[in-house]
Amino acid sequence: MYRPGLMTMNDQRIISRIYIILVAAILSVMATVPVEAVNPLTSTEHDPVLIGEQREIEIGKSTDQQIRQKYRVSADANLSQRINGIGQRLAANSARKIRYNFTVLDDEMVNAFAAPGGFIYITTGLLKRLKNDNEAAAILGHEIGHVVEKHSLKAIQRQMLAQFGLAIIGSLLGDGGLSQGLLLKASEMSASLLLLKNSRVNELQSDVQGVRIMRISGYDPRAMIDVQKMLLAQSGRNSSFAILSTHPPSQERIDMIRQAINDQNVGY
Ligand SMILES: [Zn+2]
Repeated sequence: MYRPGLMTMNDQRIISRIYIILVAAILSVMATVPVEAVNPLTSTEHDPVLIGEQREIEIGKSTDQQIRQKYRVSADANLSQRINGIGQRLAANSARKIRYNFTVLDDEMVNAFAAPGGFIYITTGLLKRLKNDNEAAAILGHEIGHVVEKHSLKAIQRQMLAQFGLAIIGSLLGDGGLSQGLLLKASEMSASLLLLKNSRVNELQSDVQGVRIMRISGYDPRAMIDVQKMLLAQSGRNSSFAILSTHPPSQERIDMIRQAINDQNVGY
């Protein structure tokens, strides 16, 4: 029976097939660069994101479980509450409206990272090195920037394509539930990618997002420069700070942050 305005199953099938062909065409262009040779954390704004938001959140939750198995969550309720308070105040002004979770890990490792789906972590080791809430907001704002730009999601997608090839595309498209096997694979990748070095471009993008979010939220974005300077000084000292390898500090980042702060348009 013909129902005007409604697509038949067959129409939908044809449309989804066309979509798959289009995405495959885009990816085959991307594939001219050997995927394995590329650091998965080097994303470009041209990376099409195939994994839908529901799936991203599912991967994030599964990654969160793995992180909680690996690290101890801080038992200091006041500290967790304070960090969550700063994080939620920033997240309310993020360009990406999803539910954000901020977790303090009780670990001497000096690090912070963002898993897909808005799951953000900061260690007590790093918090000890920060002077005030503005500096904590600088770290959390930067991590929110990674979530906004979907950096870890793009990295997982890139890894999955490298490992499984174009055959995986049908399973990645859209928002239906991922199979348990694929979900586990994706979250394992996600947990290991968190410990890799973010690319220069990803860092600069997240800093700019962070400055914008800090400013609208009423935190002083100059704290981001102070944190960068502290980390840059550490990197000259053969330091064991993990954050130096996951989020490499640089003079270029300081210059870019300064420029973003001075830009009247940022945040307004
Ligand atoms: Zn970063």
